[in-house]
Amino acid sequence: MNTENLIIIGSGPAGYTAAIYAARAELKPLLFEGERLGGNPGGQLMLTTDVENFPGFPDGLLGPEMMEKFKKQAERFGTRIVSEDVTRVDFSKTPLSVQTASGAYAAHAVIIATGAGALWLGVPGEQTYQGHGVSACATCDGFFFKDKHVLVVGGGDAAMEEATFLTKFASRVTVLVRKDSLRASKIMQERAQKDPKISFAWNTEVKEVLGDGKKMTGVRVLNNKTNEEGEMTADGLFVAIGHKPNSEIFKGQIELDAKGYVVTKPGTSATSVEGVFAGGDVADYRYRQAVTAAGTGCMAALDAEKWLAARE
Ligand code: NDP
Repeated sequence: MNTENLIIIGSGPAGYTAAIYAARAELKPLLFEGERLGGNPGGQLMLTTDVENFPGFPDGLLGPEMMEKFKKQAERFGTRIVSEDVTRVDFSKTPLSVQTASGAYAAHAVIIATGAGALWLGVPGEQTYQGHGVSACATCDGFFFKDKHVLVVGGGDAAMEEATFLTKFASRVTVLVRKDSLRASKIMQERAQKDPKISFAWNTEVKEVLGDGKKMTGVRVLNNKTNEEGEMTADGLFVAIGHKPNSEIFKGQIELDAKGYVVTKPGTSATSVEGVFAGGDVADYRYRQAVTAAGTGCMAALDAEKWLAARE
């Protein structure tokens, strides 16, 4: 088997930035972007609309458009892209091994940039009605709620963004917040609170998603201040309560923290295994921005390049 210099797993801002740097350093990286179904080529930005905070784009641009640009730039310098999911890795020996459904690959160095995905509430009915009212992506599913009443769960920036976006379609949006305050940034809070279509239900926890067997019809809620239970009628429920890292396949192979994030040595992208580096949301609980993902993806490429050079 041919041993690659560098395999990059993931195709969000971190993966593509790592690829741009590695390709320009003539490492001829091989990047696994994930399958269209199941995997998520382009990562979370494929699920957003306008990106207004990526420096260098004063007029903003669409998430998918931005990822297309990242990809083009990575390909321009010779990155080879494989549209498959990595299903297994073996980092216990050298060369490092990376497997997909159709084959096995070997590499001297690997960059993990698999990102993160939406968290769910884990209440009864939530899974049953996924795709039938329950969603974690307003950009993907908002369109189906024209003139309907929808609920959004969460009090962070994501919840404010989802709620605001949903007002384009829905007649009414109610944000269910488990505390009596929001965690979102001031500007996002204000935008949502000023919107006449958006209202807030405070101290409100979703206990169950209710439905008629085919689609959701509402939720059972608990007011955690008064301990009163009640039902709310709604056509949709958008869950926006945070994310979890896509690190399942690395369990037992490299050090992960209690939440499943890849642990990197402070100030570097090095993981607990020699030759394995990580960048982007899979290793970042705190910042989770496109620009920080791109930044740590760049760090991973520079660290990998240095490591490969020292090895020679
Ligand atoms: P956050 O972790 O910031 O917020 C999660 C929210 O969900 C909190 O209000 C939390 O409540 C609530 N929550 C968590 N678990 C539950 C639960 N089981 N039931 C009910 N509510 C729950 O996540 P976000 O996804 O909002 O944001 C992540 C990061 O991405 C942040 O750094 C944010 O700034 C950034 N971001 C930026 C955007 C932008 O600038 N355009 C858009 C979206 C995200 P509690 O407060 O009680 O813990």
